[in-house]
Amino acid sequence: MTALSFLLGHTIIILQGTIHMSDWQLQLGEDDAYRSLQAAWERVMKALEERLNKPSFESWIRPTRPLALDGPVVRLGTPSRFAKHYVETRYLDTIRELLELELGQPVHVQFELVEANEPVLMTDRLPRKPVQRPPEDEDEPLSQPLNSRYTFENFVVGASNRLAHACAVSVAETPGKTYNPLFIYGGSGLGKTHLMQAIGHHIGDNEPHLRVLYVSGETFTYHYITALREHKTSQFRRKYRDVDVWLVDDIHFLVGKERTEEEFFHTYNALYDTGKQIVLTSDRAPKELDLDNRLLSRFECGMIADIKPPDLETRLAIIQSKAANENMTLPYEVMLYIASLITTNIRQIEGALIKLHAYASLMRTQITESLAQELLGNYFTPPSQAIVDAQKVQQQVARRFNLDVEDLKGPSRTKDIVVARQVAMYLMRQLTDWSLPAIGRAFGGRDHTTVLHACKCIAAKIALDKAFSNLVEDLAKEIRDGRNC
Ligand code: ADP
Ligand code: MG
Repeated sequence: MTALSFLLGHTIIILQGTIHMSDWQLQLGEDDAYRSLQAAWERVMKALEERLNKPSFESWIRPTRPLALDGPVVRLGTPSRFAKHYVETRYLDTIRELLELELGQPVHVQFELVEANEPVLMTDRLPRKPVQRPPEDEDEPLSQPLNSRYTFENFVVGASNRLAHACAVSVAETPGKTYNPLFIYGGSGLGKTHLMQAIGHHIGDNEPHLRVLYVSGETFTYHYITALREHKTSQFRRKYRDVDVWLVDDIHFLVGKERTEEEFFHTYNALYDTGKQIVLTSDRAPKELDLDNRLLSRFECGMIADIKPPDLETRLAIIQSKAANENMTLPYEVMLYIASLITTNIRQIEGALIKLHAYASLMRTQITESLAQELLGNYFTPPSQAIVDAQKVQQQVARRFNLDVEDLKGPSRTKDIVVARQVAMYLMRQLTDWSLPAIGRAFGGRDHTTVLHACKCIAAKIALDKAFSNLVEDLAKEIRDGRNC
């Protein structure tokens, strides 16, 4: 398994196939990775046994088996499609967090069917055979649980998510009154689910009489096909229409599932027409979703807000806030290193912090920049590394500051030249794999402590001065993209 699979984030991959008992046996090799997974899983089971009530633990966790540890991917087997869905929607985050602590590395959890002949939920076509359903499901609440960490208080606001955050706050304060529907879109790991659930928490706290239903597109599909199969569509409709705030996460999951999309359309209209608040998230803008135009035009009637990848300053603020929440002490250089290494996915930033935290507490050591490089460098390759050469950094910086490259290398200590030189050193450190002494040599034979000092000065200035931070970020982007200033 390569770093790429980790870069895909912690999303669950719904497997197209079904694993049978014999395949399962084959995968249980006596290798070290499997043994450590097995030991970790036993400890995770113990922790879950303490946290969950007995019926939930016995029904869902006890039958779950570790299958394999494949790089960062942990494969767990569940005995039925229903169990797979149940464990995925309710316990995924907890299981992942516990496994990460036990294994001391970020993991990506995949659930797979073992000993099951049922088709897996890839389309909304009805399965041919009726599936036996555990009795617990009768009383199953419709809403998926909200993650207690996904609150407005824990959400760091920056330029990339400011609009989406403001709209979410407004909707949470006056549901059904301002933006309806609110449609939030953006790439994976950028905070869509966090913001959506923050709306749910806020309304739950302030207007507890309102019924809030949070559901993913996938779970909506699952509920609907189950209702169809069991001839309970009127019950399904009654339950779904009896809500005041409908939060539907990842509605791109409905693409290609015509019957579910049709049902979604009717549910949507029923709620919208009675003034209920609807919030939707998707990985694409409405016009890029291959859904029925009737539905798209309804989405476009409301407020559409995108979330972009966070800029350096916001990434730093997120790292600071997450480290503080975990009581982690991280030197500024380490924070800066992570913020420069992982630029497009906050979930990955969290994974990096978990890895560092686990390592530091297991080994009882301080986290330094070189330790962070060693632990994270293989997982996250900065997009720039292969293409940026050091000379180019000097040329672009000199051009942006209206100087010659020779000025950067020379002895002058005039203020403009010093700042430009420090920016060039900082960017060379961030964008290339050059060591501090090598960078020093490229600037007229300066000492490596001068380079380190330059990097710290620029990092501090970035944190304090927004315009300066934009300038540096912009320059880095230009250098990476190979554009001239
Ligand atoms: P998405 O739904 O867009 O894929 P999530 O909402 O699941 O992303 O966010 C991924 C992780 O990153 C979550 O743990 C979330 O708390 C965190 N996160 C995302 N954006 C922010 C932010 N602005 N401030 C703090 N944490 C964030
Ligand atoms: Mg999400």
